[in-house]
Parts: sequence; structure tokens; C-alpha cells
Amino acid sequence: MQAKTDSTIADKLPARLRRLEELVYNLWWSWHRSARDLFKMLDRMLWIGTRHNPILILREVPPDRLAAAAKDPAFLRHYDAVLMEMDRDLKTDGHWFARTHPATEQPTIAYFSAEFGVHISLPIYSGGLGVLSGDHLKEASDLGLPLVAVGFLYEQGYFRQRIDANGWQEAIYPALTIEQAALKPVLDEGRCCRTVSVEVGNRTVALQIWRVDVGRVPLFLMDANHDGNAPWDRELTARLYGGDQEMRIQQEILLGIGGVRILRALGCEPRVWHINEGHSSFMLLERLRELVASGRDMPTAMEMVKAETVFTTHTPVPAGHDVFSYHLMDQYFQGLWPRLGLSRDEFLALGRADDGHGGGFNMTALALRLSRRANAVSRLHGEVSRKMWRVLWPDRPEERVPIGHVTNGAHVSSWVGSVLHSLFRKHLAPDWVERHDQPTLWEKVEDIPDAELWAAHRALKRKMLSVIRERARVQRIERSASAEQLLASGILLDPEALVIGFARRFATYKRATLVLRDAERLAGLLHDKDQPIQIVFAGKAHPADDPAKRLLQEVFWTALNPQTGGRVAFVEDYDLQVARYLVQGVDVWLNTPLRPLEASGTSGMKAALNGVLNLSILDGWWAEAYNGRNGWAIDPGIGDAPPGGDRDAVEAEALHQLLAEEVTPLFYKRDIDGVPRGWVEMMKNAIRTAGELFSGRRMVQQYAREYYLPALADALAPGPETGRR
Ligand SMILES: *Cc1c(COP(=O)(O)O)cnc(C)c1O
Repeated sequence: MQAKTDSTIADKLPARLRRLEELVYNLWWSWHRSARDLFKMLDRMLWIGTRHNPILILREVPPDRLAAAAKDPAFLRHYDAVLMEMDRDLKTDGHWFARTHPATEQPTIAYFSAEFGVHISLPIYSGGLGVLSGDHLKEASDLGLPLVAVGFLYEQGYFRQRIDANGWQEAIYPALTIEQAALKPVLDEGRCCRTVSVEVGNRTVALQIWRVDVGRVPLFLMDANHDGNAPWDRELTARLYGGDQEMRIQQEILLGIGGVRILRALGCEPRVWHINEGHSSFMLLERLRELVASGRDMPTAMEMVKAETVFTTHTPVPAGHDVFSYHLMDQYFQGLWPRLGLSRDEFLALGRADDGHGGGFNMTALALRLSRRANAVSRLHGEVSRKMWRVLWPDRPEERVPIGHVTNGAHVSSWVGSVLHSLFRKHLAPDWVERHDQPTLWEKVEDIPDAELWAAHRALKRKMLSVIRERARVQRIERSASAEQLLASGILLDPEALVIGFARRFATYKRATLVLRDAERLAGLLHDKDQPIQIVFAGKAHPADDPAKRLLQEVFWTALNPQTGGRVAFVEDYDLQVARYLVQGVDVWLNTPLRPLEASGTSGMKAALNGVLNLSILDGWWAEAYNGRNGWAIDPGIGDAPPGGDRDAVEAEALHQLLAEEVTPLFYKRDIDGVPRGWVEMMKNAIRTAGELFSGRRMVQQYAREYYLPALADALAPGPETGRR
């Protein structure tokens, strides 16, 4: 994409507010309340109208508004405080990593991911994996980890969802406007855009490099939409997970091989390489090629690469792992194996997984073979992954298959609602965000008066409902949405009645319609005179996944049906922002995956952090978080019976029983001042569990201690015969 030299923001700012430009170009602002408040103070209507995009705000705000702010003592006080906070965070040392590992040389850890969800103004993510990568970067910044990240700049990285009157999902691909995102082109000495080139089959593709600052962490994004490339090559970085296998192998060549070249070109010398999901596994081949080119033999090169590599696998669904046909591998890699000194068979063996899923070059198998450290993303997923990948270590018992687990976490200050944040300041500690990795801090949740916690929750619930209504108004104005569509989008939801949230990607294994299975029984719960329940759905189906789109349609029809009386709703266009309001504002977070297919799940953690109670199958993170006092487990005791009619029926029955006999009565059991004491007690337990054990901070600290630092030690220690670079 073209980088225009653009000075409109800088030219427009009064001298006293000059540093606003710096602030809006570092996504640090997105998880610091004080900075977000500053933009709200500057222009509240623009803050809402731009969907929280400060770069756009500065472009659109009238100059006299800026001039007035530059003279407003209250604004200036806040402005100075925000910059001081940012400087302390970004320009000083003494963060956790430097404090706890002072003796270590400051290594560079390279983190590769196909998607990053940091903020909606940078739409280069599709779902959970991207949001997790985004949270990883924010936390690495907070902890002062010396990390650099590499990914794609998708021009249409994210589709916006619209549901037509018939409940069918339409995908709209708005093009990213560079000028509206916190992107800076990386320039060379001649102030031209810096590029690297990658051979893709018999072509050479030039990749332009963009930089995004996520606090202290630089995120480098590659972009093939560049003048020097053929028109078809310019499409390579257009969309996330679009196209066929051939498109995909080409994208993954760019991500893995191009990613290594970008870091080299920028002078980064990573000592640890983290492959976040197999999409970027080709980086291993590039690093082998470099080592062999510098004179190592292949066994030595392999040991060196392994020592420095950490690999995280994210899915127990076999189809979720990329496998490329040998035909495609021949086409794109036949030039490489001679350079590695390998025969075709030896080369293809690096990606072999004789797992009964057909032949081909498996990106997860490649990564597992060439990483000394590998992990799954929850305890249960660790067990499943060891079973799944035992084929690579046939002579080992399952428990000795070298795949550990680091359970995912959610970045706490990004996900805790503002009113709760204030409550935590008051009752946990004024600096609770800085200290949230101390377990004793979370014990103090018990000290929050029940009525205050309940009032905070009610405020978040009202906020969510008003956001839902506001979106409906926009649908009405912009698309003349019908009365039925408005009803389905949630405008009739009752703030006093129990609200259950179900929002996530519509993949069939997540079984969005399980709760709707017994329509008659559900109707009884929805319309109960004293204790009604309501359900809010949101989520996107992959545009090519028709079965998932049919599930979505079924949900939408239920929301449209007058019989449900507006008590079932579908909120269109699930994204980071909708997710935020829902995980903060509903009462119950429902999750009904087909165990064990949910590797971890993170939305339930975000909900629990806000005191929203999980009602979930014992899968992924919930299998290790549930303790009987912090939510509910849908567990009819049938284990992992084969999927299908019976299993769905038994689990749906258990869900309805819990709803009718435990969840709903507890919610409506109020004391004299209207506070549901038993419910609030559970909310406190949920907050404690999530804060202590499922924060992004715990996750990144665990990666640092158990994966990055040992990898670094291995990388630095001369191997028995290998010597070092
Ligand atoms: C947290 C999050 C997810 C992940 O949700 P799961 O329930 O873990 O699948 C997906 N999308 C968005 C926008 C999120 O914020």
C-alpha cells in the first residue's frame, strides 16, 4: 500500500499539544484508561463516531476545539499526566523482566503470528487467535519483555458482518485506510519504503514493511501490495485465510520466510523464535537455509534451530492444522532441498505426520520436529495434543510426548470494565493493575461490599444494553432495517431480567444452537412470569463455512420469531468492541463446545474477570478453572461420548436443568435491598479465579520462565559438538 507523506496531524496541533501525535501513533493508549479518557475529553462525539479511533479524531476535530483544549487547565493537567505515565512506561527500565532477570543479556524474542487483534482500528485479526496474540504483545510491553512481533498487513483483513432479512450472513470487506491506523512505513536511508524479497515458486515478491508500536513492543507487518509486484502477487496479503491451498502456501511462505528476512533487514538478531500456531512454521526452513549457507552441516543446523524455537499449537481439531500436498511442496520448495543438502524424501519427511489424515506436508509436524519446546494452550489441550502427536514419537508413552501447556490468559486492563476498574482501585489497591500478579491482591475481592459490586455490574449491563440499542438505531437509519430485524437485534431486552451471553466464532463444534434445542422448554424459561431469562448471541461464521452459516441462521430466526418475545437477540458484526461490552455486561457467559475441541477459549476468562458467571461444558480453560463456587459446569457425566444426536440431547438437557434449577433461582433470590447475595458471592469467586490464574500476565510470565529463558540458555550454551555461531 502506498505510504503518503502525511503531515496533516502534526501541522494541525497547537505547540502545547504537540505530543498528541506520538500518543495516537502508539497503541499504548488503547489499554490505558487515562489516555482513552483524554480523547473523550477532547471530543466525545468524535470518540463515539470514529469507533474509538484517535488518529481519525485528530484528523477531524475542528482546529478551534484543539486551540481551546490547549488553553483549558483541566485538559492540560490530564494531558500532562497521560504523557508522564506513557514516558514512565515506555522510556524507563525497571519493568518485571529486567527486575527478575537482571543477569540475563537482553535477548530479542521474535513472535510470529498470522493475526493480531490489538484494537478495532487495526483490523488484522479474525478471532480468538488474533486477540490472544494482541493480548500477548500488550502484556509483553507491560512486563518489559524484549519482544518483537511479525505479521501481515491485510488490506481487507477483517470482514464486517451483515445479516440479511432471511438470517443469512453477508460478508463485506472494507479496505483498510492506512491514514486511519497507527501504521508507519519503515523507510530506508533514502526515505524510500523498506522492502525485502522472497522467492515464491519461480517469482520474486517484494514485501513492504510497516511498523506498529504496541507500547514497548514493535510489530512489523508485511505488505505485498507494492508497485514492484505483479497484480496477482499484490493480492497475497489482501485477506486473512482467504483463497485456496495454493494461495495459502504462498501466504505462509511470505509469513515464515519473509518474516525472518524482515527481522534480518532491520538488524534484529532474535535469540528465541516463537511460532504462534503453525502458519509461520516455514520460518524454520529459512533459518536452516541461513545456517547451512554459512557452512553448518544439516544436523548441526537442526540442533541450533531447535534450541532457539518455541512452538504453540492452538487446535485439537485435525482440520485446523495446515497440510500442503506434496505436489504443492514440489512446486514451491524443490529449489530449497538441494540447498539444505537433503533429498526430496528427507525434506518432505520434516512435515510428515502419519496420522491417518492423508499424506501431505503438515505445518504442525514441521514445527514440532524443529522446536525443542512446544506447548498446548490448556491442561486438557496438552493431554489431547500429546495423544494427537504421539505419531511423531512412536517409541514414547503418551505422557512423555514433549508437548507441555501454558493455559491462555486475557490481558486484564484491556478487559476489565471501567466501573469495576474504579472499584478495584478502591478496594484492592490504587495500583492494582501494576500488582495484579500477586495472588494476595485478589483475596481482597472479598472486601468489596456486595451492594457496590452489584451496582457496578448493573451499570455495565445498562451500558451493554444501550450499545445494543444504539447499533439498532444505526441499522435503522443506514439500512432501513425492518421492525422485526430491530427486535431481533435486542432492543426489547429487559435490564432487570437475567441475560445470558453467547458470543464467539460460529464454528459447528461450538454448538451455538444447543441451548435452543428443546424449544418448548426454552420458551417456558424465556417467558416465566417471575423469573424470565434472555439470551444474546453474536459471532461470525467463516465466509466459506456454510454449515456454520446455517447455525447462525437458525439462531437469527429464533431471535426474529415473535414467540420469543424479544428475549432472544442476535447482535451483528461481532468484533473486539462488541466482545468487550458483552463480556462486561451480561450476567452469564454460556459456552457449549463439543469437548475436547475447545483448545482453551478466552472469552470466558474476560467474562469472569468482570464477575460474569460462566455456564460451560468442562472443556478448555474451564476444565481447570471450575471449582464449584465460581460458576457452573454442564457435565452430565458422559465423558467424551461420540458426537451426535444423543450427546447433544443429554448435554442440552443438563444445560436446561441447570438453568431452571440453579442459575435462574440464584439470580432472582434477592435480599431486602435487591442484592442477590448468593450470586454476588459467586461473582467474587469468579473474579478471583480469573484474576489469579487466567490473566495475560500469568500467561506471559509463564512463557518467559518456562519457555523463553530456557530456550535462551540453550541457544547460548555451546552444544556438545556444535559450537556456536
Ligand atoms: C476473546 C475473543 C475471542 C475468543 O473467544 P472464544 O470464546 O475463546 O472463542 C474471539 N473474538 C473476539 C473479538 C474476542 O475478543
